[in-house]
Amino acid sequence: MTRLELPMYIAGEFIKTDRAQTIELPFDGSPVATVYRGAKEHVAAAVEAASKAAPVMREMTREERSAILRRVHQEMLERRDALATAISSESGKPIREARIEAERAAYTVLFSSEEAHRLVGEVVPMDSEQAGKGRWAMTVREPLGVIAAITPFNFPLNLAMHKIGPALAAGNAVVHKPASSTPVSGLMMASIFTECGLPKGGLNVITGSGGEIGDALVLHPDVAMVSFTGSPEVGVRIRGMAGLKRVSLELGGNAAVIVDEDANLDEAVARCVAGGFAHSGQVCISVQRIYVSGRIRSEFQDRIVASTRKLVVGHPKETSTDVSSLITVPEAERVESWVREAVDLGARVLTGGSRNRATIEPTVLADVPEEAKASNREIFGPVINVNSYESLDEAIALVNRSDYGLQAGIYTRDIGKAFHAASKIHTGGVMINEVPQFRVDQMPYGGVKLSGTGREGPKYAVEEMTEPKLIVWKG
Ligand code: NAP
Repeated sequence: MTRLELPMYIAGEFIKTDRAQTIELPFDGSPVATVYRGAKEHVAAAVEAASKAAPVMREMTREERSAILRRVHQEMLERRDALATAISSESGKPIREARIEAERAAYTVLFSSEEAHRLVGEVVPMDSEQAGKGRWAMTVREPLGVIAAITPFNFPLNLAMHKIGPALAAGNAVVHKPASSTPVSGLMMASIFTECGLPKGGLNVITGSGGEIGDALVLHPDVAMVSFTGSPEVGVRIRGMAGLKRVSLELGGNAAVIVDEDANLDEAVARCVAGGFAHSGQVCISVQRIYVSGRIRSEFQDRIVASTRKLVVGHPKETSTDVSSLITVPEAERVESWVREAVDLGARVLTGGSRNRATIEPTVLADVPEEAKASNREIFGPVINVNSYESLDEAIALVNRSDYGLQAGIYTRDIGKAFHAASKIHTGGVMINEVPQFRVDQMPYGGVKLSGTGREGPKYAVEEMTEPKLIVWKG
């Protein structure tokens, strides 16, 4: 990719600062783009621009907002190769997966354009109570105003569109702050929205360290909602600071899947490997903990190891690459140290475990004790744990013994067991005959416990990004 220069985008203007930052390909550190670190004054300027655009956005018809998003969808499809290259270069994601992300992001915007039309209130039956006699009432859903969208590094484009699309569909204005390591695709999108008809200031993109400018954005009195996707540590901090602002938090997990004795093993093995190692395990719903029935453990484990060894580790630009680097060398060192800790506590390495710069070889561990971080915390690397159970209820208890609760999965051909597990597992979503690492962009998506609050998916996000206003008429 030719080296890009991407300034911030505020009120329809490209803004540079005297603090240039080089974005590097995580795989080998080669330069990808130059961006500019913003400061608190840029937060203030972006929020001011969004505050001026918010009334304009609010007055636009649903069809005007929907039409802009449909045009953005088309533009994204036309530019999908460039967007995929940007995603792969900034995040180190293998190009095959980056192409999927670029396409998904375009459809997230299309789904958002549809929600502009579907967002409705309701008629309230006032005379259900005597005091309401002679009154008619309805609710309408109104935009909140300015929404701060803060996004993580692992899906830099699609997760940004999950916030920007619904926010604009519902008539809000947005200030987007992408992750410092992966701002490229987000910055590329900024002017595309304006070219497609969005009023200037409707979308502003600011770059800079979250630690430096995050608080100013979250605390700004003119920001009505913070829509955050990222780590629980930062999410909890934002929740603590946001006061009465609306906050949606899409946080991390250590997702688990149960593989019961009557599972379709071909399917379970193939999907566990795909779900554990896609984007080097840097997915919030990556398969991290596998609980397999003791009766089939040995066969399942052998097949998981054989399949894992077939994965191609390499440069993200190669279409043959299945697994590439983590986002930084320190992150890879952390994952390596967690594997070491698990082994010190009694786990066995069935395959993998080595590190080369930022790349960790796909790793399968067995019998990881619960006190190991590789089990009880989010590993966010290409490491899966295989453990066995004797009864389904024991497996369900193990799945639930987690501080997180984003999604879980169960493989079984027994419908009774499947729905028993679905009702007892405490997560935002339960996948039957699928791994937790499954998402289509229109479905409700979000977690419980440390995995966050609120649901994304355009239909659900527009609800969170609007408020109902009650109008009562006395005839
Ligand atoms: P992160 O370190 O929490 O960063 C996320 C975003 O927050 C970045 O833009 C970051 O900016 C910003 N930030 C950092 N400190 C801030 C502060 N004090 N105030 C406001 N913003 C601040 O997360 P990450 O490492 O990029 O992403 C990985 C995490 O995201 C994992 O835990 C993963 O599970 C989670 N995730 C969840 C979902 C979901 O839908 N549930 C999806 C994807 C990822 P800087 O980059 O400048 O620090």
